[in-house]
Parts: sequence; structure tokens; C-alpha cells
Amino acid sequence: MRMKTIALPRLNNLSPTLESTALKLMEEAGELSEAIGKFRALSGEKTRLDAREVAGAISRELLDVAQTAVTMMFVLEEESGIDVDAALKAHVEKLIRKGYLKLDPAPADAGGSDADGPSIDA
Ligand SMILES: [Mg+2]
Repeated sequence: MRMKTIALPRLNNLSPTLESTALKLMEEAGELSEAIGKFRALSGEKTRLDAREVAGAISRELLDVAQTAVTMMFVLEEESGIDVDAALKAHVEKLIRKGYLKLDPAPADAGGSDADGPSIDA
């Protein structure tokens, strides 16, 4: 399966809480939505940015959303002892169960003991 791996830092000059991070996540989602709206010219305003500049703005806001989500994961781990790695595994299993993700078939010559088919641990 294709993966996009993004490593984002734990911010060490802030004291985020679950509540402050949730509000920040909504703020950043709003900024992302606004950037996409500019791309589609949904507001009716004439934007002076060309398509590439707008796509750059979208990617910056998307990374703000991702950073805030990762910050919330750190808060959850530190305040509630949540094992994000275990939650991630359960998340991928959910995607498979719901049919959003289909695992690549195992290569025919793979051999080994993977008789039950592909594994998400591979
Ligand atoms: Mg932002």
C-alpha cells in the first residue's frame, strides 16, 4: 500500500491542552477551507494569486491541520496514556474493514508463512 509518512515535531514552546488544541484544529480547518475556497473562487472575490500560489497556500494550511492533529496526539499520549501507535494500527484496520483501503496482494513468489494473505504489518 502507498503511504505518505510525515514526521512533525512535538512543540516545546507551548502548553497545549486537549481543549486548546481542539479549538486550534477547528481554526486551522477553517483556514484550509478558506484557502480551498480561493482556489475555487467560491467567495466571488477576485484573487490575485495564481493557481500555483493558491495550491501552496492550501498545502501550508493542510500542514497546519496536520501539525495541530499531531500536537493533539502528543497531548492525548501525555495526559491520557493513549498509545497512538496502537490507535494507528486500529485505524488502518478500520479503513480495511470499511472498504476504503485494499491491501496489495502478496507477491506469488514471496514464500514464507503468509498463507492467510496480506498483512498490514508487512
Ligand atoms: Mg493556518
